[in-house]
Amino acid sequence: MISIAQALDMVLGAVRPLPEEEVALDESVGRVLAEDVVAGADVPAFANSQMDGYAVRAEDVAGGSESCPVELRVLGTIAAGRPLGLTVGRGEAARIMTGAPIPAGADAVIPVEEASSDAPERVSIASSAMAGRFVRPAGEDMRAGDRVLEEGRRLGAPDIGLLASLGRASVRLRRRPRVAILGTGDELVPIGGALGPGQIHDSNAHALGAAVRELGGEPSLLGIVRDDPAALRAALTAALRFDAVLSTGGVSVGDFDHVKDVMDEIGLERRFWRVAQKPGKPIVFAVRDQTLFFGLPGNPVSAMVCFHLYVAPALRAAAGLREVFLPASDVVLGEAIRTAKDLTELVRCTLRSEAGVLVALTTGTQSSGALRSLSLADGLLISPPGTAELRAGDPARALLLRAGPALASTHPFA
Ligand code: AMP
Ligand code: MG
Repeated sequence: MISIAQALDMVLGAVRPLPEEEVALDESVGRVLAEDVVAGADVPAFANSQMDGYAVRAEDVAGGSESCPVELRVLGTIAAGRPLGLTVGRGEAARIMTGAPIPAGADAVIPVEEASSDAPERVSIASSAMAGRFVRPAGEDMRAGDRVLEEGRRLGAPDIGLLASLGRASVRLRRRPRVAILGTGDELVPIGGALGPGQIHDSNAHALGAAVRELGGEPSLLGIVRDDPAALRAALTAALRFDAVLSTGGVSVGDFDHVKDVMDEIGLERRFWRVAQKPGKPIVFAVRDQTLFFGLPGNPVSAMVCFHLYVAPALRAAAGLREVFLPASDVVLGEAIRTAKDLTELVRCTLRSEAGVLVALTTGTQSSGALRSLSLADGLLISPPGTAELRAGDPARALLLRAGPALASTHPFA
């Protein structure tokens, strides 16, 4: 049986980046850049004032202080967006507002709080200034020619502002991955429906759809397919127009596990079936043309763990992201656990920071049918093959499932 690392290599080796598209800037947050963004001009394009005050020549106010103020002649008032074509000469100043262009001749700004004026054409400066004080130089934020955002970056809100300050109305992005999701199993009932004897709700489709959406993909829930080869053949064939297909169930060795056979029949080229891992061992992966097919196990935890291990990196890579893997961290076991000796086991655990180390505790039963164990988990602790037991205090690695520590309920300035 292949290892997780081998399986992941095969998955990533099969991924092709999705096509590019031009998207309006305001629709771009959370999407992935398909271009390097280079500043076409300095931002800001002109030196401007950081304060409401007086634009002066630093050398004129060099000796100024409260006991010995410097008198300057005021040439006019420069508002933001309304430059005046004036030049500040020796002994002169201009009243200036925040964001207004620094006039020729001036090289510093005295804040209004350090000046007093008893007539519009005069000001008395009670402080000195080095050249450049309270002046925001042209290109302070970005210089023409700077590469300010790189292809493969997921755009955040500040990036959108940065693109807007460059005047960009649209950007080149990778298309979002379109992902078909279908559940297989005669026992499955759609949510909202009543359960008969032996039936369960299809939870996988919804968990996976949400996971695809969280990743920035577009999920399409194609519904439930009976454990019947003809029905499966029709459903899988219809799903082949998507960038990726996620089915759940029917990939084990049970009498009604038809997914693998049907896959082979419809030309899905099988790359692997079964990985030395727990949970999620029976996963099957296949490719046809541009479509990636993941036959995920039916057990809800197995399906989600396989999603994190294989589907998510594949979708991130297809979407053009540079960083495709879940973050990982060193942790310390907070309790002893027994793990599968022959497989890589992924143990659902909480992670709490104690004296600077992340302490891992299991979330209880590790049954692959118990979704709560995953809902409670902050991470997946990795127990490598050859390990049958981890003791309290042992070091380990864990994949982090949450972006960061939980949000605080009390505000951080309390
Ligand atoms: P299978 O891989 O088809 O043998 O299914 C393994 C286990 O997962 C069985 O207990 C199924 O009832 C359960 N299961 C399969 N599909 C789903 C689903 N869509 N939602 C919740 N549980 C499922
Ligand atoms: Mg089944």
